[in-house]
Amino acid sequence: IIKSGTPQPKPWIMDISAYVPGKASAADGRPLIKLSANENPLGTSESARAALMAATGDLRTYPDPGAVQLREAIGAAFGLDPARVIYGTGSDELLHIAASAFAGPGDEVLYVRHGFSVYDIATRRVGATPVIARDKDYATDVDALLGAVTDKTRVVFLANPNNPTGTMTSAAEIARLHTGLRSDILLVLDQAYAEYLEPEEDDGGLALAQTANNIFVTRTFSKIHGLAAERIGWGYASAAIIDALHRIRAPFNVTTAGQAAAIAAIRDDAWVARSRAHNRQWREWLAGEITALGNHGLRVVPSKANFLLILFEGALTAEAAMNALMAEGYATRWLAGQGLTNGLRITIGTEEQTRDVARILRALATAA
Ligand code: PMP
Repeated sequence: IIKSGTPQPKPWIMDISAYVPGKASAADGRPLIKLSANENPLGTSESARAALMAATGDLRTYPDPGAVQLREAIGAAFGLDPARVIYGTGSDELLHIAASAFAGPGDEVLYVRHGFSVYDIATRRVGATPVIARDKDYATDVDALLGAVTDKTRVVFLANPNNPTGTMTSAAEIARLHTGLRSDILLVLDQAYAEYLEPEEDDGGLALAQTANNIFVTRTFSKIHGLAAERIGWGYASAAIIDALHRIRAPFNVTTAGQAAAIAAIRDDAWVARSRAHNRQWREWLAGEITALGNHGLRVVPSKANFLLILFEGALTAEAAMNALMAEGYATRWLAGQGLTNGLRITIGTEEQTRDVARILRALATAA
């Protein structure tokens, strides 16, 4: 499609597969209930919504470029130094600028097989070479990651809990990974789903980032806070790392309304607690329902996130399940494009949606 005599994208750009978003509508345009993008089924907290609406008065001026109040609210919520908090247009922007600042052509960026798809885009975009570590039955294998490190490794991306598998790497394993990495390698610990963990399940990433000079922890307002539409993420690292990242982030990268909504959201502990409890209850319930279909070839990967990865190893295929769920009005994420042809990722929805999904899967599995 690119003609000679026209601007030529760098060759590594043409090696990138564009991000494929979760479906919101069926082929015929019918809207679907989206269980494909790991959004909060309970919605957005009233306080965040009210703060957002109140902030839409002055649309003429740019947002606070330093996001001072947002950084202070995050610092207060997590006991962090606000000067070391950075914010992004979604945590996606932070993943991109981490790769840009610390890797380039000739360098290697390491992540696990079945890692978050943006790591591949962020790596290739800067001309760096992706290196993929093997997994251990869909879970992160710290020994495989450490074994894949070379002299050229500059950045390691790890989501915890991981997307699309939902698997969790323990605090002890994260500490072992960090200790095993050379101190000049940046460990990007992507905690997009960390708010879904119970306190005792915390992987210790933010505590490590308080003292380590080579950890960048990222979080998002898109998941438990129910603010995906506003595109706000944040991250925490040493002052030196944050300084480098500020040099290349987009100016005014978080909107005025987004900053206001995020401040209210991070203070709304009750909403977060309610969303976490709902997720845990229905995730465990759905996992039990899928496990009960084990003799029909369905298997669930243990998840600590707000979704389940279901593996189809019998007569019913993931593709057939996705299509049948779509016919009943539900969008789910078939992971064929990510090397998981037998995998379907389903976000935990409301009680009604979750019961409905279980009913549909049971009918399909037993009929197959
Ligand atoms: N990291 C992981 C592991 C994710 O699953 C997502 C969202 N799909 C993101 C980062 C990016 O989220 P956002 O840009 O909305 O903050």
